[in-house]
Amino acid sequence: MISKTEELALLGGPKTKTTAFSTGKRFGVEEARELLEALEQETLFYHFGNKVKTFLDDFNAIYGVKHSVATSSGTAAIHVALGAAGVTVGDEVITSPITDQGTLIGILYQNAIPVFADLDPHTYNLDPASVEARITPRTKAIVVVHLAGNPCDMDAIMAIAQRHNLKVIEDCAQAYLTRYKGRYAGTFGDYGCFSTNDFKHISTGDGGMVTVNSGEETDYYRTHGFADKNYHRFGTEVQRELHYVAPNYRMTELQGAVGIAQLKKLSWICERRQTIGDRITEGLRGTPGIHVHQVTEGGACTYWFYMMRLDLSALSCTRQQFSEALEAEGIPSRPGYIPQVVYKQPLFQRKQAYLNSHFPFDLTDRSYQQGDCPVAEEILETAIQIPIKEFYSDTDAEDIIRGVRKVASYYKK
Ligand SMILES: *Cc1c(COP(=O)(O)O)cnc(C)c1O
Repeated sequence: MISKTEELALLGGPKTKTTAFSTGKRFGVEEARELLEALEQETLFYHFGNKVKTFLDDFNAIYGVKHSVATSSGTAAIHVALGAAGVTVGDEVITSPITDQGTLIGILYQNAIPVFADLDPHTYNLDPASVEARITPRTKAIVVVHLAGNPCDMDAIMAIAQRHNLKVIEDCAQAYLTRYKGRYAGTFGDYGCFSTNDFKHISTGDGGMVTVNSGEETDYYRTHGFADKNYHRFGTEVQRELHYVAPNYRMTELQGAVGIAQLKKLSWICERRQTIGDRITEGLRGTPGIHVHQVTEGGACTYWFYMMRLDLSALSCTRQQFSEALEAEGIPSRPGYIPQVVYKQPLFQRKQAYLNSHFPFDLTDRSYQQGDCPVAEEILETAIQIPIKEFYSDTDAEDIIRGVRKVASYYKK
């Protein structure tokens, strides 16, 4: 082998990362104070207390929306949006094959059928041409996923939705303060859905929010009712007349209280993640064997994680070897994001949304096969995910860049 730069730590050479990654605390006295106030209200019910209300007011102010609804999780938020959008039995909903199952659960609970469109090879988001190609007379909605905080091509998606009269729901669980052409993701479609589970940019333990982007009162009431057993708590009296089924996905005052304090940290968290992620891209650009995590044109990414792809034709190693070499350099990484595209899950392969049933899949002859979304499959076979934390220092970002470049240069063909 001719002059390979530095010996890999994996093979006994010097380790790239010689200092610990910077850390910090997500929760502090701010959260504790809010929690104590919540308890002192002598009620933890969102409708009687002020914490969830204040949390939503603050969230609405950040996002510039008139109404949003709090939920018990991000999965619940997406289900609520689908319910409010009128997605129902036998409808098809087009979405991404690289996502958390929280994107899909609400579709199936509405007895609608998920249809997967292919992705852009470098932004990892829905390819508008593939979305349009999968529209049928049954198609009712598109659930776009702004993966890892990178915005979808919303101009193209919204144009398709308008042409075919489809609802658009944005899964923003990984996309806080993500911008597309100067506007926040979550404000383009009919509804924007967020998660505050413990792994997201901000945490309330579990929780979620749905923005009601029409701004219309009737839409707001319908969305609100869908998260609260169709109780309508707007007039002087609670309306309990039940016209159709709606789950109980209410957020408690404890979650709202923590959320108020967490929202105050949101812009710092997102700015820091954006700076670190964009710096890594800048530092890795042009490295042979590496495709950087490409930000959508006109967009700004707040990196819930960083995900590069390997060009294995330019490298003399496997992805597993690359990832192990990085680990040895002191740079945490893992191959891919999810092990496989979601339509390869047994649920889709066996068409079993509910135990002992093939409903609603048996309403159509649609099947889910290897090769349905070839680009998405290839992304997951070649991707390496690098965790990003808002607490990382500039040195940490430089070390990540040096580690990746070192491994790539060692394995360069
Ligand atoms: C986290 C996540 C969800 C679900 O959120 P939960 O609060 O865990 O239910 C949905 N979609 C995506 C893309 C996510 O990352």
